[in-house]
Amino acid sequence: MTNQKKITLTEAEIPEKWYNIVADMPNKPLPPLHPGTHEPIGPEMLAPLFPMELIRQEVSTDPWVTIPDEVRELYKIWRPTPMFRAYGLEKLLDTPAKIYYKYEGVSPAGSHKPNTAIPQAYYNKQEGVKRITTETGAGQWGSALSFACGLFGIECEVYMVRASYDGKPYRKMMMNTWGATVYPSPSDRTNAGRSILSQNPDSPGSLGIAISEAVELAMQDDHTKYALGSVLNHVLMHQTVIGLESITQMEKAGDMPDIIVAPFGGGSNFAGIGFPFLRHNLTEGKKIRCIAAGPTSCPKLTRGVFRYDLGDTMGMTPLLPMYTLGHNFIPAPIHAGGLRYHGAGAIVSQLLKDGLIEAQSVNQLECFEAGIKFARTEGIIPAPEANHAIATVIREANRAKEEGVSKTILFNLCGHGHFDMGAYDQYLSGKLVEHEVTQAEILESLAELDTPLIA
Ligand SMILES: *Cc1c(COP(=O)(O)O)cnc(C)c1O
Repeated sequence: MTNQKKITLTEAEIPEKWYNIVADMPNKPLPPLHPGTHEPIGPEMLAPLFPMELIRQEVSTDPWVTIPDEVRELYKIWRPTPMFRAYGLEKLLDTPAKIYYKYEGVSPAGSHKPNTAIPQAYYNKQEGVKRITTETGAGQWGSALSFACGLFGIECEVYMVRASYDGKPYRKMMMNTWGATVYPSPSDRTNAGRSILSQNPDSPGSLGIAISEAVELAMQDDHTKYALGSVLNHVLMHQTVIGLESITQMEKAGDMPDIIVAPFGGGSNFAGIGFPFLRHNLTEGKKIRCIAAGPTSCPKLTRGVFRYDLGDTMGMTPLLPMYTLGHNFIPAPIHAGGLRYHGAGAIVSQLLKDGLIEAQSVNQLECFEAGIKFARTEGIIPAPEANHAIATVIREANRAKEEGVSKTILFNLCGHGHFDMGAYDQYLSGKLVEHEVTQAEILESLAELDTPLIA
């Protein structure tokens, strides 16, 4: 046991392989279905959208996939990322719990998203793709992909949810600086966008609409593919570099977590830190608790249903087995833009159904209160998404205190909040309100689904 504050690794300790949890899952994730026929789809149906190597990874059951040398070299721009012991927060909470955090905000884009953006751009480049389209909500995924495409000389076209395009101009400028073109969504460049605009010229947009636009463009052009920043199996796998590094760091600290917490949008950073530890549960009978922390305004894991649902608004994506609130669910405009997705990935959904992971929901006032405690004791100003994890960590640390037991808690500080100061300002000036979606709203959204139920 050391008293180290910062636990660092050398470049040689960047993982050489990603971990694919599918290999060790007792029940494998269910297959995607065709949105029209409801039959399982084969890899060939995904070929217009993704390069073959990513499709192979999407359906792979191999436990380990080698990280290409070129990707590992680029990871060195910001990896390995540091881990810290939160002595300041522990002291404030007066808890017997030991709290560690892995900090992914040191990447050029300020979040964990480049961990998958770099390999996705790499495999597209390998297969001769000239242009990648994508959607972005708050702008974090769009920035990460713009950065990655810039490194590989691929054109990047980002459909940014109109409300964020207007409200977060600096994220757009960042994408432009890395060479990407950014359009507000809905746009007049696609059938999906034009159809929404004809009904509502002032539509603020949504992630589901922006996905429909980006997918439509990729389907139309042989040289254009599409990229997604969360939810899919290959994305979750790329993020496991976070947890694999964390295992080495915890070993260096002479400790091991009893509890792991990560914020939850589509599941990628949660999977990234959690799955390499969960592997020890699945293969060695360890009992590490992995908790996904989401918002009460979009509580798919705690109050959604497990069934097949679409990934987008217009029905252009396959049906995925997921915990969902319904693909037409429009979450309240809370500040954790990255957590406002109606569903969860197939792997995470299956793990939750099987009781192998846990989920909690936190309202935004508790989140910002936690984030400010963290900023004032540890220094780093967290992304609003990360505040969901910090609030959950504080709950668990307080519980440890009540029960008089020492627990070791590790959480993922998935990004910094430097582009979210408007939200902090609103909290500090007392303008943020609690938001909890009503049962009637959830039932109404779910009633619109006509997709297959899962037994
Ligand atoms: C995108 C994002 C999230 C949510 O996405 P996941 O796939 O669930 O990780 C959370 N935090 C930050 C900082 C993000 O950029």
